[in-house]
Amino acid sequence: MINNFAYVKAGSIAAAIKALSTKGASLHAGGTDLMGCMHDEVMQVDKVVSIRNIKELRGITARPDGGLRIGALTTVAEIATSATVSGKYAVLAQAAGEVASPQLRNQGTIGGNLCQRPRCWYFRGDFRCARKGGDLCYAVGGENQYHAIFGGGPCFFVHPSDTAVALVALQAQLTIAGPAGNRAVRIADFFVGPDKNITKENILAANEIVAEIILPPPGANVRSSYRKIRSRRAWDFALASVGLVLQYAGENVSAARIVLGGVAPYPWRTEAAEKSLIGRKIDAAAAAAAALAAVKDANPMADNQYTVAMVQGAVEESILALA
Ligand SMILES: Cc1cc2nc3c(=O)[nH]c(=O)nc-3n(C[C@H](O)[C@H](O)[C@H](O)COP(=O)(O)OP(=O)(O)OC[C@H]3O[C@@H](n4cnc5c(N)ncnc54)[C@H](O)[C@@H]3O)c2cc1C
Repeated sequence: MINNFAYVKAGSIAAAIKALSTKGASLHAGGTDLMGCMHDEVMQVDKVVSIRNIKELRGITARPDGGLRIGALTTVAEIATSATVSGKYAVLAQAAGEVASPQLRNQGTIGGNLCQRPRCWYFRGDFRCARKGGDLCYAVGGENQYHAIFGGGPCFFVHPSDTAVALVALQAQLTIAGPAGNRAVRIADFFVGPDKNITKENILAANEIVAEIILPPPGANVRSSYRKIRSRRAWDFALASVGLVLQYAGENVSAARIVLGGVAPYPWRTEAAEKSLIGRKIDAAAAAAAALAAVKDANPMADNQYTVAMVQGAVEESILALA
């Protein structure tokens, strides 16, 4: 049941930050995740602060350096269908197109997609797990078929966002607005693992807002893709996903970024796999070697061992398809 709460419609970023500066306040963008969290009582929210009216947080605009600025309130659907995004950053448009269902993509925002809470069934259920202030990660001795094979411990949730994987692969930067002004953060430094903070998934303070996403210019001869595996074709979170960005010098790969989703508490960059591709022409052997390197450090639990082969296959397929 949802408890009674106060509702504030902020007219500016400064007003939103002020309203968020009291205990129990929570930011509302599209509300598709926040309302579910309140309903499931995974967090106590006494004040909902809507940022929907803040126009400067919306839209996709070209930057003078050839990059792109995406306001945090831009819907996932706008990103999925933007010709500018799909032309220059295919991995992001494809990832956005794989998020949830059409209704959720129309209502959900990119800022909310990055900041959504974990989908772990113990976290969302009636368990006082470690992420909710308890002592245990119930997945360790419980049902862990959808839990982390990389970067887990002491909590083993997997990050649910598809777009986060693409944005890490693209080396995006976030602008975070807070009481002391704006700060720029590399997206790879935005997410925090459970070993660093077991109750939070990112570095945001309670009164900070993700204001915009900055994409660097795509660079010459770059190709990218997003591949998602899920239990069914209708809306579902990733069992595993691969964000891939390859840059070519002639026929050989000169730079590579391979980021995995659905398998770790934050988008999981596989540097060993990336390195194995540098200087090589992509063929079946190169793709297979990179895929093997991608899962070398996997650490599955009792019920999620199937994920290792799934990730390996997805990486191999993605590389071959892109090449
Ligand atoms: C049935 C279902 C299926 C889904 N499937 C997928 C899927 O397959 N892939 C996927 O990636 N996602 C999936 N989602 C998640 C969905 O994409 C997110 O709910 C949505 O993107 C969140 O956006 P929102 O604007 O509605 O966020 P809200 O619900 O408004 O906010 C979500 C959280 O982020 C915080 N927040 C929001 N915006 C900001 C901001 N700018 N700065 C700081 N904090 C902020 C809020 O305080 C809240 O804690 C699914 C959700 C549902 C309900």
